[in-house]
Amino acid sequence: MYNSACSAAAGGCSEPERHDRDGLITHETAVAPVEHDYSGFDIVKATQYGAIARVKELIEAGWDVNQPDSETVTLLHWAAINNRKDIIKYFLDKGAIVDAVGGELNATPLHWATRQGHLGAVVLLLAAGADPSIRDAEGCSCIHLAAQFGHTALVAYFIARGVNPDLQDRGGMTALMWAAWKISALDPVRLLLTLGANPSLADHTHGNTALHWAILARNATAVSTLVLKGKANMEVPNLRGDTPLTMLQPHVGSIWIGSKVSDRIRELTQQSQRRNPFVRMTLDKRFRWWTMIATPFLVFYLAGLIFCADTLIIIKVFLIGCLYGVAQTVGQHLFDENLMALLPLSVYMATKLWFYVTWLTYIAPTVSFLASLAFLTCSAGLWVCFLKSWRGNPGVIQPTQEQRFRTIIELSERGATGFEPAAFCSACLVRRPVRSKHCSVCDRCVARFDHHCPWVGNCIGAKNHKYFMGFLWMLLVMCAWMLYGGANFYVQTCDFNMDGGLWSALVAIGSCNPWVGWVMGNALLHMSWVTVLTICQSYQVVCLGMTTNERLNRGRYRHFQAKGGKSPFNRGPLRNLFDFLECSCCGLVQPQRTDWMQFFEFDKHVEHEPLLRPDNFHSNYYPNDRPPPPPSTGSRRRRRPPNPERELAALMKSQAISAMLKSGSKMKLS
Ligand SMILES: [Zn+2]
Ligand SMILES: [Zn+2]
Repeated sequence: MYNSACSAAAGGCSEPERHDRDGLITHETAVAPVEHDYSGFDIVKATQYGAIARVKELIEAGWDVNQPDSETVTLLHWAAINNRKDIIKYFLDKGAIVDAVGGELNATPLHWATRQGHLGAVVLLLAAGADPSIRDAEGCSCIHLAAQFGHTALVAYFIARGVNPDLQDRGGMTALMWAAWKISALDPVRLLLTLGANPSLADHTHGNTALHWAILARNATAVSTLVLKGKANMEVPNLRGDTPLTMLQPHVGSIWIGSKVSDRIRELTQQSQRRNPFVRMTLDKRFRWWTMIATPFLVFYLAGLIFCADTLIIIKVFLIGCLYGVAQTVGQHLFDENLMALLPLSVYMATKLWFYVTWLTYIAPTVSFLASLAFLTCSAGLWVCFLKSWRGNPGVIQPTQEQRFRTIIELSERGATGFEPAAFCSACLVRRPVRSKHCSVCDRCVARFDHHCPWVGNCIGAKNHKYFMGFLWMLLVMCAWMLYGGANFYVQTCDFNMDGGLWSALVAIGSCNPWVGWVMGNALLHMSWVTVLTICQSYQVVCLGMTTNERLNRGRYRHFQAKGGKSPFNRGPLRNLFDFLECSCCGLVQPQRTDWMQFFEFDKHVEHEPLLRPDNFHSNYYPNDRPPPPPSTGSRRRRRPPNPERELAALMKSQAISAMLKSGSKMKLS
């Protein structure tokens, strides 16, 4: 039965019901009373509707705050499920039992608040000593409920307050498993992995890991997050002997699992097959990395050799075509997406190496010693700037786990319900300094982020931007120097002049020394894009006082909107330049030195607004002269929490699955 249900889920006939990020719990809404007079309300209704004056009146008149109703539900449960924070505080002051168990599911007020995603109520209850590890009748503690319903902020807050992210419910399910099974959004799976959840744990009933559950649910986001970010083991069998690898193999190439996960599956499949040594060598990561680095060096050299060959032009064209074909074939078989990110960097390195060789071999004897010295000096500067841009820290915001927890607690307890993206990076779980951005290529937040540059294989940010600018200027000069040296070489050693036009000049170059011409062509090519980039970068830094990211996305930033799209950091061209270079010109100017890693100043006006979504803060958003929002009037008849056993059984019952099992067909996912 289980097997059939598993194959059905994995085969795509039917999907288990899944919740989105906000949690789709049924809201049994009551009709809001029209009148403002709550004097006729009983204590339960007054609590549900947030009528604190009536609640106080009844309690002062002698109502026992811990008096449960006929279904053992206490007043604190009602206050919690409706997020009536002032009433929760009042009940707690009056001695309400914080961990009172009630309702059909034997749940605590903390369970009720958690299911609804009421962070404000959860903060108050935890502060009053509520125990988040208590399990309800379904065997779930609060972190499991928060994960099931996709309440990411609550999952983060529970872990920050000391709940073990790997806490297992009665069936051995962890929050990560629940999120992988139920939630199709990126979080809370990504958040749980960032906060240290272990993707290798298996539940007691089926022996499934979180990745098994994600595959059963056909949850593409969770599968890719677990495989790529969580590095989940794909070769762990469950109690049926199925590994994530064997479950995913039939779907390699399908759109729903994505190309990166498909690549990973192919890699593992081929490794397990242990073919001949040559195939194994091509799968070796180091071999592939070195092939990626070496290919542009070789292609540059071989293309130059072909140009220099003493043969017909048509044969040269044919050979160049063959070289292109070989490079393409090597690329298709040995380079994956990660390696392709290295390509611009290795092209740059190869070009530079052959510049040096050409200068020293051909050009140096034809130019003065000073010209060669200037070339080498410029090259040394280029190396310094390149290394600082390539290997230097661009200003990565890298918090410790304790700092993450502190940030989550601080933001949660400030009185909000979800994290404001402008102030909080949900991938790194850090407060975002102003001008920082999360680099999607490197998966990290970088202070005063400019852009991710493939030519230096690094982000450009607060700490390496000026070196990147130095790199561009030096590269420009070096390319120009190379063109000057090459032209000088041809004038000195070949019978070269431009009198016969461009074509005759090219023929003269081809017959005299094609290699130098090939190198000059490359210098010209690089010079063109470097010129455009240098002009853009210099204009942005000096004239606009903004980064590339800000120029492209200024509409998203409130501090730019407030200035009509202009940069609030623009202090005029000269000051911008000195600030950027952090140069005081021997004390003549006073540059503004800003620590962009710690610059949260603009957050102040962000912080005055709710950091978390206001929909769960009805009491704050409804003035006293308006009727309160419809309350939740009960969870006793509320839908039971998701249960994998039950859902797998339900899947089996569906006619579509039965038909598929009868025919024995396997649906192809695409
Ligand atoms: Zn980030
Ligand atoms: Zn980056």
